[in-house]
Amino acid sequence: MTTHITHLIGGRSWEGGSERTGVVHNPASGAVTGRVDFASAGLVGEAVATAKAAWTGWAGTSLAKRAQVLFAFRELLNARKHEIAALITAEHGKVLDDALGEVTRGLEVAEFACGIPHLLKGGFSENASTRVDVYSIRQPLGVVAVISPFNFPAMVPLWFVPIAIACGNAVILKPSEKDPSAAVAMARLWTEAGLPDGVMNVVHGDKEAVDALLTHPDVRAVSFVGSTPIARYVYETGTAHGKRVQALGGAKNHMLVLPDADLDLTADAAVNAGFGSAGERCMAISALVAVDTIADELVEKIKDRMRKLRTGDGTRGCDMGPLVTRQHRDKVAGYVGEGSAAGATLVVDGRAGDFDGGEDGFWLGPTLFDDVTPDMSIYRDEIFGPVLSVVRVKSYDEGLALINANPYGNGTAIFTNDGGAARRFQNEVEVGMVGINVPIPVPVAYYSFGGWKNSLFGDTHAHGTEGVHFFTRGKVVTSRWLDPSHGGLNLGFPQND
Ligand code: NAD
Repeated sequence: MTTHITHLIGGRSWEGGSERTGVVHNPASGAVTGRVDFASAGLVGEAVATAKAAWTGWAGTSLAKRAQVLFAFRELLNARKHEIAALITAEHGKVLDDALGEVTRGLEVAEFACGIPHLLKGGFSENASTRVDVYSIRQPLGVVAVISPFNFPAMVPLWFVPIAIACGNAVILKPSEKDPSAAVAMARLWTEAGLPDGVMNVVHGDKEAVDALLTHPDVRAVSFVGSTPIARYVYETGTAHGKRVQALGGAKNHMLVLPDADLDLTADAAVNAGFGSAGERCMAISALVAVDTIADELVEKIKDRMRKLRTGDGTRGCDMGPLVTRQHRDKVAGYVGEGSAAGATLVVDGRAGDFDGGEDGFWLGPTLFDDVTPDMSIYRDEIFGPVLSVVRVKSYDEGLALINANPYGNGTAIFTNDGGAARRFQNEVEVGMVGINVPIPVPVAYYSFGGWKNSLFGDTHAHGTEGVHFFTRGKVVTSRWLDPSHGGLNLGFPQND
């Protein structure tokens, strides 16, 4: 028995059927559990037209009424977060606690967006010139698209959607076709919260749907999150079609451990950040850069902790779930083979494991490599699985140079008790999000999330005030109420007096 997952356009489930569909699995059993409709370019056009028609009314809705809808959505999401988390575990595979954690972090963005009346306040300069006032306002863009990855089916859409809606836009969300149900469930909550039909829409699909959004003349902005090659493509295609685009890409996050760090706490952090969500997090630590003198001891401590991890079905209280698809599982296992062949020391091999789940689940246990060097594919590539690589360096400077030479720049962390070294690192490292003794430094909702280099294409980061900026455009008004002192002819460029 499989579920049928379809588009939500204008507040209603699409009833028109679909020429193309995709399959959704339960990664813990390997079974096909759902079939998701894929939108054609024509259907995307219908969704955009519906959103555009709804947009005018929503853009004209008062800030007070918009905030009421946001508050209602926040309450509904909080009340239903366990249901959403269960959908995530069933289609993504991550353990229930972790799924709940991502909904909760997304909820924080909805809470931030409740403050939209304050966030949209402009500036006002009285008497900028004699009896002339100047003020700034920010207005919505129109129809905006959000295209999200499989690894955070709730949190990533929530980085963008509440802010886009609060700013007065209409949204088309294209979630990952691998785990699309959470997006649909959350979209229904907007309707329950009182959002007018058509302001929030969900279309499912693959490249065809994405291309249709990137090229549609009525889509004004695109927020994308996914792998680097697709992020680059989305940025280039969207901007070539006149759109504002923020495209967040892949990552290779390093954790630099200095000799003075508390090695027990560091080992805990490395295991949590390396294997949480089976390493399928854009902020997962995948390269642990250890200054040589402490590397042996640290590797031992990490190995000890890994022995205690239980990998299995996310509904059974395990620590780590399966990978999202069989294809992805095999790709990650392939990297483990490549790492061994290239000469890295395979300290813990996750391919051989005991898994608490279905025989056909997409299993791969936590894996640890030591003596990894920068030329190896396990170091160079974003693996996006439970594989932690230890790279040994001689000094802080060598570690910093390694991190800065990496083409990605999403997140990084330093573990040390030396405040001066930490301060130097935060200043010198070329990465967008930095943790000091914090292994996964995902910024809180009122700051903005975004990496540097190949981890983000575009200028604006997600959520926080940068998110408000992205989903609005600025206007500056220069105003005077005419009186006789303003008379007379003068063809010169206006000067302030
Ligand atoms: P992906 O790039 O395969 O897919 C992302 C989205 O793009 C999906 O909606 C997918 O349907 C669509 N897509 C896939 N192929 C496409 C194509 N050829 N043309 C147009 N659209 C296409 O990414 P994923 O595997 O779903 O997610 C994992 C990736 O996302 C990792 O690289 C991870 O680092 C990255 N990620 C980054 C962040 C960040 O904040 N930087 C956050 C989460 C995930």
